[in-house]
Amino acid sequence: MKHLNRLTALFACSFILLTSCSKETENSIRPSATQQSAQVTSTTREKINQLRASLPAGVEAKLKERSALLLQTDPQYREKVRSVLAIEPTACNDNTPVNQWFDQQLVGWNNEVIGYVLDFAMLDLPTYDALVFENSSNGQTFGVNGEYTQTLTKTFKDLQRFWNIQSADIVLAAMHGNMLTNRDRIIRTYVAVYDVDPATAGILADIVTMLADEIPQYRDGNHPIFTFNAFAQQGFNFPPYGRIPDKIIMGDGIMDAFAATGYGDVAPQAILAHEFGHQVQFQLNLFGTVQSPEATRRTELMADAYAAYYLSHARGAAMQWKRVQQFLGVFFNIGDCSITSNGHHGTPTQRFAAAQWGYNLANDAQKQGHILSSQEFARLFEAQLPVFVKK
Ligand SMILES: [Zn+2]
Repeated sequence: MKHLNRLTALFACSFILLTSCSKETENSIRPSATQQSAQVTSTTREKINQLRASLPAGVEAKLKERSALLLQTDPQYREKVRSVLAIEPTACNDNTPVNQWFDQQLVGWNNEVIGYVLDFAMLDLPTYDALVFENSSNGQTFGVNGEYTQTLTKTFKDLQRFWNIQSADIVLAAMHGNMLTNRDRIIRTYVAVYDVDPATAGILADIVTMLADEIPQYRDGNHPIFTFNAFAQQGFNFPPYGRIPDKIIMGDGIMDAFAATGYGDVAPQAILAHEFGHQVQFQLNLFGTVQSPEATRRTELMADAYAAYYLSHARGAAMQWKRVQQFLGVFFNIGDCSITSNGHHGTPTQRFAAAQWGYNLANDAQKQGHILSSQEFARLFEAQLPVFVKK
């Protein structure tokens, strides 16, 4: 239990996530009743129901309770926030191309299709599997077909060289949705994180693999909903599994979303550089102790700025103007308007502004060959933060 609490506490801290989407998924994808159509066959439904009936009492409730920690969204509350937003003097619009693309991917999902996902914590399994069990950078492949492996591996090495922190032991690992077709991986994840015995985990894994296999909307786990994220994690002890190292996890879904909307050339590097910025913040102790929308926004915008500086710098990724414009678009696209949520990462406009500042800092420098220390960079950022927040 203790280790579970530790895990869930970590996950409740949205600062580690690239986007706050995972918290808002339940509400945003629940379609209206009129959109419903029968898509799950009655044979599949019967098989699932039989397996469900063999689960020990209380297991499903336990899963629900714990996955709710990741979703944490009360639709009514969210609606309230939305209505408040409508009268906010600062206009905020997060209907960005990436969010629109994501909505399109959910066409054809009905209450039953999303219901299974929520009932069996399928949104969380790939994340927890990567968090607990992917503890080495060796042999990692990125993207559904390994299409980002080379770029990310190279960029990660480059980031380790660029920033003056101790980064040799940070692990770069992938999060693949197709773990939902792998019975052994599902079992070990339920056992490690959800506090269920192996036999029960076996039944749950039978359910999940059957769902992944038989419900086409899940795309064998490769639907972006299962991996629409990237995050940085600070190392921690997780008995009896041992030490979980500092790591960065890159989900297939978030990279697919950017590739599909025209950012494929820069998004993997930009997202990785942002997560590396969080590792810098861990080491320099730049996270405050209080959780608030403003605190999260500060560290997220700072990570955007760290990323932009590296991506633009002559001794970093040295991206030229056309690609700079693209990566600025990446940060714009992952902004959100949940300004009263502790998961608020900054509005699209604010994220764009923080990244643009990082770019200018690299581009306008007198000595192009000089790399600011991560500490000096943070000091400059803090002085500038009030300007971004006003945007
Ligand atoms: Zn972040």
